[in-house]
Amino acid sequence: MKTLYAKFVLTTIGIMIFSGLLSFVISNVYYHEVLKPKNDEKTTAFALELASFFEQHQELDLHAYLQHSANLGYHVMLVDEQFKVTNFAEPFRNQSIDDRIIQDVLSGKAYHGISNFPHQTFVTGFFANEVTNSIGVPITVQGKTYALFVRPNIKLLFNEMHLLFAAILLMTILLSILLVLLFTKYIVQPITKLTEATKFIANGQYHVQLDKKRKDELGNLLQSFLHMSEQLAFVDEKRKEFTANISHDIQSPLSNIKGYITLLENEQATETDIIHYLGTIHAEIDRLSSLTNRLLQLSTIDQQEQLMKVQTFNVNEQIEALLKHYHWKIQQKELMIIHSLSQVAITADAELLNMVWDNLLSNAIKYTNAFGTINIELSEQGQYVVVSFQDSGIGIKEEQQQRIFERFYRVDSARTRTVEGTGLGLSIVWRIVTLHQGHVEVESVFGKGTAISVFLPRIRPK
Ligand code: ADP
Repeated sequence: MKTLYAKFVLTTIGIMIFSGLLSFVISNVYYHEVLKPKNDEKTTAFALELASFFEQHQELDLHAYLQHSANLGYHVMLVDEQFKVTNFAEPFRNQSIDDRIIQDVLSGKAYHGISNFPHQTFVTGFFANEVTNSIGVPITVQGKTYALFVRPNIKLLFNEMHLLFAAILLMTILLSILLVLLFTKYIVQPITKLTEATKFIANGQYHVQLDKKRKDELGNLLQSFLHMSEQLAFVDEKRKEFTANISHDIQSPLSNIKGYITLLENEQATETDIIHYLGTIHAEIDRLSSLTNRLLQLSTIDQQEQLMKVQTFNVNEQIEALLKHYHWKIQQKELMIIHSLSQVAITADAELLNMVWDNLLSNAIKYTNAFGTINIELSEQGQYVVVSFQDSGIGIKEEQQQRIFERFYRVDSARTRTVEGTGLGLSIVWRIVTLHQGHVEVESVFGKGTAISVFLPRIRPK
């Protein structure tokens, strides 16, 4: 019983059957305890009345009298001392009865067949049209004794049966309603708990406790809800970390700038000092500018997810333009750039991809020592356009290669870095490439160089 639907259907049917059976048992008990003795009493009174009335009016014709009474709705059977049987109106369906019973009645003892009738259920007992299920009384006619067996006709009982059936029906309905109410409560309970949990989450309390054992649809919902709350907790944690990092990265250049300005204000500063201080202030401003630039890029990508401007353009042209842009830095470090850029078209967001090449090329320049080499390759492999930036730079240790795509992660972390950076560049690359349903591969040997390759589908799948 895994699905809620099956649970509902089976339980409701179960409830119906259970209530039906219970009502049946109760009606049987009622029949045996109340209805049977009452019926016996009523019929005995009727039979005695029948006999005594005739005994006081011996001038009447016995057969006509009994026939008339039977027509009122009774089975009437007369047995004389020779056991000769006479039936009036509709005869009993089963007329066999022990001779000793007849003998007892003839000798003046009333026979209570109705209350002693041994059948189990009221359906069989109440309707059994048999002499054994009747009342026997003696009747004396002109000195001769007869045994008179009487029982109400089924048609007469029918009215009482109506009442009984109505009672069964009412009981079934009431019981079903009661049990359905209890069962629905069992179903609704986890939903109530879920509602409480959503309130906790809305208040920023992500660690909620929910029943994980259920295996039906509600169980799945609870599982997904728990997963969602864990994700929310994770995102919240990351957000806090992110804000703390940004605050630190903005705060530290600002306090440096402030410190150097104070030094500049010192009248004893020599010209060499002033040049040094101004140079540092310049560098710190560059750092701030690069950080805000990267943050801007991040927010652009987050918005871009819905607003991607997909168009077809040549990747080689984009990279060539970028090389021109970095010409001065390349010259400064006297780096050798090797590239074989054949014409390769791609259908993607040009602005976002430009950010990818920009980050990868600027990293290659940053992390390669003077006189190093940067090799840029552009090729088509099946459905993919592959762009790789290979440098002869400082390289990345294997255990750090997994983490370089995390936001704010820097190998040369503790802000004692020798190369300026924000730790955001590669996370931006990763986001953009996954947005385009591509992937990034890193190959690096510490101290020897790094190759970062980007695989992008030629046409971004919808
Ligand atoms: P950053 O602003 O510090 O360059 P990135 O996200 O671009 O941030 O890169 C994360 C880290 O990965 C860098 O701090 C650097 O240690 C390492 N890294 C990235 N590219 C290279 C490369 N070409 N050679 C060596 N290390 C690299």
